[in-house]
Amino acid sequence: MRYSQYFIPTVKETPSDAEVISHQLMLRAGMIRKLAAGIYNYLPLGLRSVRKVEKIVREEMNRAGSIELLMPSVQPAELWQESKRWEQYGKELLRFKDRKDAEFCLGPTHEEVVTDIVRREIKSYRQLPLSLYQIQTKFRDEIRPRFGLMRGREFIMKDAYSFDVDGAAADISYDKMYQAYRRIFQRCGLNFRAVEADTGSIGGSSSHEFMVLADSGEDAIVSCSACEYAANVEKAEARPLPIEHAEPRPLEKIETPAKRSVEEVTAFLGIPASALVKTLLLVADGEPVAALVRGDHDLNEIKLKHLLGCEELMMADESLVQRVTGAPVGFAGPVGLSIRIVADLALQGMKNFTAGANVADMHLKNVNPGRDFTPTTFADIRNVVHGDQCPRCAAGHLEVWRGIEVGHVFKLGTKYSDALKATYLDSDGKERVVFMGCYGIGIGRTVAACVEQNYDENGIIFPIPIAPFHCVVSAVNAKDAEVMAAAEELYRTLTEMGVEVLFDDRDERPGIKFKDADLIGIPLRLVVGAKNLAEGKVELKVRKGGEVQLVPFADAAARIQ
Ligand code: ATP
Ligand code: MG
Ligand code: MG
Ligand code: MG
Repeated sequence: MRYSQYFIPTVKETPSDAEVISHQLMLRAGMIRKLAAGIYNYLPLGLRSVRKVEKIVREEMNRAGSIELLMPSVQPAELWQESKRWEQYGKELLRFKDRKDAEFCLGPTHEEVVTDIVRREIKSYRQLPLSLYQIQTKFRDEIRPRFGLMRGREFIMKDAYSFDVDGAAADISYDKMYQAYRRIFQRCGLNFRAVEADTGSIGGSSSHEFMVLADSGEDAIVSCSACEYAANVEKAEARPLPIEHAEPRPLEKIETPAKRSVEEVTAFLGIPASALVKTLLLVADGEPVAALVRGDHDLNEIKLKHLLGCEELMMADESLVQRVTGAPVGFAGPVGLSIRIVADLALQGMKNFTAGANVADMHLKNVNPGRDFTPTTFADIRNVVHGDQCPRCAAGHLEVWRGIEVGHVFKLGTKYSDALKATYLDSDGKERVVFMGCYGIGIGRTVAACVEQNYDENGIIFPIPIAPFHCVVSAVNAKDAEVMAAAEELYRTLTEMGVEVLFDDRDERPGIKFKDADLIGIPLRLVVGAKNLAEGKVELKVRKGGEVQLVPFADAAARIQ
């Protein structure tokens, strides 16, 4: 591909509405553009990475014996009424009517449609097991679409569905998919954990989520340092332990520095640690901006003023704070601090924003999240759970991570086959209900998660399997005929070898070419310049780590392969 004839609209400045790094970099690298909230154009470069993930997913699905089909995104209401989800699904389901007033929805998932296919076509146990998958556009009217492709309203998902004669057979299908998912995310070069997950409202008996570890993740997960145990905190096993209060710290007066760390502030609080869990200190950019105090604790006004380093306090409307943060609290903040700021910080999901209750050295022993307090922030969860004994092996301790859910496998049992009457005849001619499983992977979210794990200050660092191109050939001076001829030759040779090459043939300054190549994250770069070429050499730079070496022109192509 010739850069001059391609379409990569890179941007220098970080877009102001992009909070997480993958969203910022994918916009800047010209991979995606927003059309409407949660609805994105996949520009050529972004599409190439999306297609790479799809290819890996297809290969592994096929290998696991799943068969590709394609179902419509527009689905009739009747099917959803049969499964009862027309009433249950809520506002995420986008509904509309056609010209005859018949009701439809845009599919957020395809259990109903695929079960309808199976109930019509599958008659006998001889036709089972069956596993079907598609890679298709889903629509969910997410309440807060954000983070680019990570939480869109329209997004590409691979969804697979397995059909088996009974629960034991369904377990085998589930395990095949679980293994296929491990291979997929390994092949994508991701650092992930497969965690036990809540089966929640979909129903069913067992479920695992595949979580990419990243600070921007919206989920909190725990994993054991010694054994295989890993779980979403929503599901993590409860530890019914008695509450042991830590020693109260003496209250001492300290001078109020202009800015204080969370540690300093909590140390200053000097209140019994048990009260600390009832206190949420909101810290923006390392500076306390407000305190949310549970009603039953008497952090008085003077202490709060000192804590926030301000002269005057404003007490805010309690119900507003409660609505926004979900915390049953009173609110105090310096006069002039707009309640909107705090509300927005909370809504943005804690970026530059932490709750400083129960910090590391004040870790409360034996506090049970859920029972003794409701962890509302990741910091809460981490501070309470991190380091605890593993509930499975007792030898290891729990580590807490933020995770991005890129995949989800689910044993459905007979929930949908019962509702839609998907049955088969067994070997005795007896009618039985099929057992199902469903398995999803967010394709765009996987690309975004990959960027979250692979970047530096200059841009994206794509691992080869997801990179839009393997290699960029940069001609330092497009006006130098000799340089251009050599670069052309390299480009041709590499292309013939099957390497995906982006040939930067633009008449631009080398600085601009290098910046763009770094930003879009191409793993390998070959630089053809007059000086090195005179000695029969070209420069090879590895994007990850930045290693540079001079290689003989004649060897360059072979080195890339
Ligand atoms: P989340 O908890 O993030 O809302 P989910 O549990 O609702 O996701 P599933 O129904 O399990 O999602 O869908 C399967 C996969 O589809 C998810 O694991 C995720 O990778 C992807 N996915 C779900 N919602 C979105 C979205 N709004 N944007 C992009 N990908 C998504
Ligand atoms: Mg969801
Ligand atoms: Mg989820
Ligand atoms: Mg899920």
